[in-house]
Amino acid sequence: ATANIGVVGLAAMGSNLARNLAHHGNTVALFNRHYERTEKLMDEHGDEGNFVPTESIEQFVAALKKPRTAIIMVKAGEPTDATINALVDAMEPGDIIVDGGNSYFKDTIRREKAIRARGLHYVGCGVSGGEEGALNGPSLMPGGTEESWKTLGPILKSIAAVAEGEPCVTHIGENGAGHFVKMVHNGIEYSDMQLIAESYDLMRRGLGMSTDQIGDVFDEWNKGELNSYLIEITSTVLHQKDAKTGKPLLDVIVDRAGMKGTGTWTVETALELGTSVTGIGEAVFARALSSQPQLRAGAQKAGLTGPDGSLSISDADRAAFIEDIRHALYASKIVAYAQGFNEISDGAKEYGWDIDMAAVARIWRGGCIIRAQFLNVVSDAFQSGEADVSLLFAPYFKKAVEQAQDSWRRVVARAAECGIPVPVFSSSLAYYDGLRSGRLPAALIQGQRDLFGAHTYGRVDAPEGAAFHTLWAEPGRPEIEE
Ligand code: NDP
Repeated sequence: ATANIGVVGLAAMGSNLARNLAHHGNTVALFNRHYERTEKLMDEHGDEGNFVPTESIEQFVAALKKPRTAIIMVKAGEPTDATINALVDAMEPGDIIVDGGNSYFKDTIRREKAIRARGLHYVGCGVSGGEEGALNGPSLMPGGTEESWKTLGPILKSIAAVAEGEPCVTHIGENGAGHFVKMVHNGIEYSDMQLIAESYDLMRRGLGMSTDQIGDVFDEWNKGELNSYLIEITSTVLHQKDAKTGKPLLDVIVDRAGMKGTGTWTVETALELGTSVTGIGEAVFARALSSQPQLRAGAQKAGLTGPDGSLSISDADRAAFIEDIRHALYASKIVAYAQGFNEISDGAKEYGWDIDMAAVARIWRGGCIIRAQFLNVVSDAFQSGEADVSLLFAPYFKKAVEQAQDSWRRVVARAAECGIPVPVFSSSLAYYDGLRSGRLPAALIQGQRDLFGAHTYGRVDAPEGAAFHTLWAEPGRPEIEE
């Protein structure tokens, strides 16, 4: 046995990860269900480092030095279970199985328990950064035991992206913690992308700007506090021309956003935990609405009326409105992160993980899709304890939102007037206003619930937890319960 690590599953992600491992001095055992992929990797990149190609799981396991460490990069779900089972049968207690796929964290919790019972370590590891990241440095979010981290940590550190001199990997927590954090990362990615899309829509339809002009605006924004990978690639997308028609490529792309499920998991999990992630939720629903062609075509046919999306803004006021949009984007982004981190914190409480939020923000600074300048200050806010309850309470972000909020309100108001949907801008503002309201209309809801269902309510002048019920005045007390 010569390999210190192995990769099972050599499609785009697995082969790039294997090459990255080899580039950093690891000897990498290779296995793929169909041998052709292994052959292809060896033919094309076999000279890039030390690889040990194998044709069966048994050969693969025999090629690994103890404790054997194998990273699985196959399709999530059933294929991952099949691969795990084959590996567990061939491996021995003390060995480490790493799932680098986008697995659902509850599957990871279940698998970790079963594999631990057989004396092996199981590490669910979130991998972000796509194919490019896998090759040149991803952001890595491993869960699993402390003991497995001792073996795995140095290997993962060698291949992770580097941000401000630090590798973008940290041991997130036990069992499913890594995949949980990766899931929320993807949820935040959904809201980041939707916020950028809403900004684009306001400039394109609202202000009648060209894709090139808007691309230039994003280039400018990328020089400031919004500096991030997603803002950068947005400019590239906007400037791209279609080879066939010469039009902006964006104008020939069908306007239906796809999704693979991690955003939905983020929202489902938030609903289970009772965490408010309105920004992420609206971003997922915006994609869902975009992908309902029948409904959308039906609306066109039915001729639903409303303003046409154009904003009547004079040329003189245009620059100021673009600046308003930038502020709205920044403030909403802060809310999206505040909500995402709240979900991580609520998940950690529910599942018994000790997650270092500052470290999570640090490992998202490089390699992953949401990498951004902004994460430096997010990390500082958690490090100092100022963001313990909410990122919005940390003085830096409190001030940022204060400075942005007049603009933010103007953008939401103007968007509503002109008929451009800005679900994440507006729901983020509603969340912010809900959060800071001393008294919410929830009292009225409690009154209604007590009237129709005797659900009881608390009183402002009674101790916390005391329950009261009123025999409400007729009419309006139906016989049925909720
Ligand atoms: P795919 O998700 O397309 O999976 C293809 C790989 O899975 C092949 O190696 C294939 O083997 C193997 N496979 C499929 N079914 C089985 C099975 N029943 N038993 C054994 N092996 C099977 O590949 P990607 O490289 O795109 O992604 C790999 C993993 O990484 C996925 O879980 C994905 O969600 C995750 N991921 C992907 C990212 C991306 O940007 N693409 C980013 C982060 C994570 P064969 O060649 O024999 O068919």
